[in-house]
Amino acid sequence: MRKNVVRMVGALAAVTMFASVGCGRSTTSDDSAAAGGERAGTVGIAMPTKSSERWVADGNNMAEQFQSLGYDTDLQYGDDVVQNQVSQIENMITKGVKVLVVAPIDGSSLTDILQRAADADIPVVSYDRLIRGSENVDYYATFDNFKVGVQQATYIVDKLGVEQNAGPYNIELFAGSPDDNNATFFFDGAMSVLQPYIDSGKLIVRSGQTSFDQVATLRWDGGLAQSRMDNLLSRAYTSGRVDAVLSPYDGMSLGIISALKSAGYGTPANPLPIVTGQDSELASVKSIIAGEQTQTVFKDTRELAKSAVQMADSLLTGGEPEVNDTTTYDNGVKVVPAYLLEPVSVDKSNYQQVLIDSGYYTSAQLA
Ligand code: BGC
Repeated sequence: MRKNVVRMVGALAAVTMFASVGCGRSTTSDDSAAAGGERAGTVGIAMPTKSSERWVADGNNMAEQFQSLGYDTDLQYGDDVVQNQVSQIENMITKGVKVLVVAPIDGSSLTDILQRAADADIPVVSYDRLIRGSENVDYYATFDNFKVGVQQATYIVDKLGVEQNAGPYNIELFAGSPDDNNATFFFDGAMSVLQPYIDSGKLIVRSGQTSFDQVATLRWDGGLAQSRMDNLLSRAYTSGRVDAVLSPYDGMSLGIISALKSAGYGTPANPLPIVTGQDSELASVKSIIAGEQTQTVFKDTRELAKSAVQMADSLLTGGEPEVNDTTTYDNGVKVVPAYLLEPVSVDKSNYQQVLIDSGYYTSAQLA
């Protein structure tokens, strides 16, 4: 019954979305409450891991925002272990949460548990990472994930001066976790920029490892990235140097930089290559300020939380979940209506403006 209501609201939202393109965010949470729903009960929030700051911020931002609307929250972290997350969601369902907001550890492992959520009429918002292989995903709040990869690769190409200079330049590629839908989007975005230069010989991947499967890093593990970089350096760079490393995530970038330093990079005679990243985690921003990591991508978790909270609250109060993309995120069973936020490329030249002036970090945190 609830499911049908949810579907109808979804269809309505999509229609309104087309009617209001360019009008920005038209529905406030208060409008939703006015539409007749009530705000009570518990929201279940399932996040993947506390080992990365961004997810801690995501969870806290959502809990605060839901609580200020009047909901209780049950916020759980799965420690990057799929079965933990499944059990946590199971407990939330048993407890009778009103709605689930889930950032999956393995995007394809929640089909059974989400069927149980659907059977209990609990709607689901997929958070940042797409839940795959299930029809029981109502909305998706995320960033423009393809663009994240485009920004990382464009940074490399511009910084090396690939267009202007003769080159060629040596580059090595890393991708994120193969069970995370985002990892493919980031990699495809990056390769849309890099592939033409690899084809023309201006960029050379000496290791020869250019396919997603060859460069993926299970669970975005920084230690795994470090050991792969160790291997690449000792096999393919006994002479010459690597000029750039495409890294999709800050925690991996720091591992890659450790491997590079162990191999003698990071001196005036042998400077570190360009190393990209993502999430603007504190350790990486400090590394950027110190001249080690070169770039990161800022994804404002405050805004992402807002989007997911707006969706969940609307589902519960009869409002309109806001979406701006109804074509990109096919989860294998359905195209999940999504709201995509804009990522921002950050380096030494703009971190002050993007991260400090916006109030995301204080200068003291980066000192
Ligand atoms: C997120 C990234 C994050 C990565 C590792 C991805 O799903 O979109 O922001 O860097 O997971 O946690």
